[in-house]
Amino acid sequence: MFQVDLSGKKGLVMGVANQRSLAWAIAKPLAQAGARLAFSYQGERLKPTLEKLTEELDRPVLLEADVTNDAALDQLFGQVADELGGLDYLVHSIAYAPAATFERPFLHTTRDDWKTAMDVSAYSLVAVAQRAAPLMTPGGSMVTLTYLAAERVVPHYNMMGVAKAALEATVRYLAYDLGPQGVRVNAISAGAVRTIAARSISGFADMYSHAGEQSMLRRNITAEEVGAMGFALLTEQLGGGVTGETLYVDAGFHAIGMFLPREEA
Ligand code: NAD
Repeated sequence: MFQVDLSGKKGLVMGVANQRSLAWAIAKPLAQAGARLAFSYQGERLKPTLEKLTEELDRPVLLEADVTNDAALDQLFGQVADELGGLDYLVHSIAYAPAATFERPFLHTTRDDWKTAMDVSAYSLVAVAQRAAPLMTPGGSMVTLTYLAAERVVPHYNMMGVAKAALEATVRYLAYDLGPQGVRVNAISAGAVRTIAARSISGFADMYSHAGEQSMLRRNITAEEVGAMGFALLTEQLGGGVTGETLYVDAGFHAIGMFLPREEA
């Protein structure tokens, strides 16, 4: 078994809303391996949940920041620099599109809804990477979360699919820019997991069942599987040669070209 000791390493985890969040699934193995973590959350109402979740961790740092606010991000990374003295890992696990974009046809996407979804779900990775990179030394690593709707039409995802396509391209360009600095940037394309963000998508329950029945492994994935892959991509010992990549943790669902009725499959 590969033993990875992250004592002395520091990470910022953005996007924990509760214990089901994919960001939390990545944070847990990092903390277990000895990394010290800061968490940023959107809005003070999330703070009590974060305080409770992280109470067993080693001196967790909890900081509020809305990723659409540049001044808030400047303040966040200033606090991270002060509190942690540097950064080895960044977890970006943030997305939002207005509810209406999941409900009406993509054809009717408004300019404002497009801008909002792109800003929160794609540009935010650029905004945080440009502030995180100066705090990183060679071996630093960033991971974001994406979904298959970036590449194929998944009913209802609509604007979020377009934003995820931008996010995946963003990962490649950031990885190219930060490669000479020895900093890696990757995305995990996760299968459906029941989280707050997922449940806000209309029709999610049916899509979740479909993915579980039809994936190559004939099951849904778990948040822990996403967490383990996040851990692997972030740590130099395991993911050191991987950058600019979108890696699927979806039980093989993305690679299927045709779905037959269940009994024939
Ligand atoms: P979640 O609701 O637990 O996490 C989403 C997070 O985004 C929340 O913490 C929320 O506060 C944060 N956020 C939204 N707008 C923000 C803003 N303006 N500023 C700061 N934070 C903001 O749900 P999740 O499923 O863990 O989502 C995490 C990531 O995983 C998202 O990018 C999502 O698209 C992606 N993803 C989820 C699934 C799934 O099925 N759950 C599948 C593939 C990809």
